[in-house]
Amino acid sequence: MPVADPGYMQYGGHTSCILVTFTSGRVAILDAGTGIRKLGNDLLRNSHEQYDNISIILSHTHWDHIQGFPFFDPAYNPQRNFTISICGKDRMGKNLEHIFATQMESDLFPVPLHKMGAKFTFLQPDITTYENPWGIKFFASKHSHRGDAYSYRIEEGGKTLVYCTDVEHKDGIDPNVVALSRNADLLIHDAQYTPEELEMKKGWGHSSWEQAIEVAEQAGVKKLALFHHDPDHDDTFLSNIEKECQKRYTQAFLAREGNEVVL
Ligand SMILES: [Zn+2]
Ligand SMILES: [Zn+2]
Repeated sequence: MPVADPGYMQYGGHTSCILVTFTSGRVAILDAGTGIRKLGNDLLRNSHEQYDNISIILSHTHWDHIQGFPFFDPAYNPQRNFTISICGKDRMGKNLEHIFATQMESDLFPVPLHKMGAKFTFLQPDITTYENPWGIKFFASKHSHRGDAYSYRIEEGGKTLVYCTDVEHKDGIDPNVVALSRNADLLIHDAQYTPEELEMKKGWGHSSWEQAIEVAEQAGVKKLALFHHDPDHDDTFLSNIEKECQKRYTQAFLAREGNEVVL
């Protein structure tokens, strides 16, 4: 749930959206939460049109990960192409384009998906690894979350980013998440709850900050961004959590809106 209250200005109140910029200047977007509106404006301002096809890769299609898309300005430009995908094996038989079109049906939104303007290609490749022609390696792994969600490991030029959100570690830390995160330069990991809250929210599909640190420690990651803050946690609450986390793992920080990390 996006939050715009005054107590949410330090860490930001948008839902999930990450921009990855590669060495070539090409970009990819991870998740299309409400952060994508401002990101779209930034992309237009910084004229990324030299790249005619931008990938939007989704961890899953829960509302908070797609709800920004109708407000993504570049998608209203008929000159532009977007590939929207969820990558990974064993996805339940759901149609990604249908999910995007549904949230823009007339009862919910004034403009239908097919009237936005840009050309969209929806893909659901049944893959765990992929290497593109520009030397970017990509690994996908399914993790536990209602309706399925995927974590991604992206490698380029010896640098590694792992994106793992909306993950519930069921009986102890999920070893697949640790394996995917191994030696990452940056791990972005779900940390919605405090350990106490997690006890009350079993089955809600998220991790505690303590579990995120445990993954980072086991996998030996260099930096850990704690991500997907609870809408009821304001800046004061989050900055206390951040201090607590840094006592345990000095390379941990809480993700903030507009945060830029160079790997
Ligand atoms: Zn979710
Ligand atoms: Zn979510």
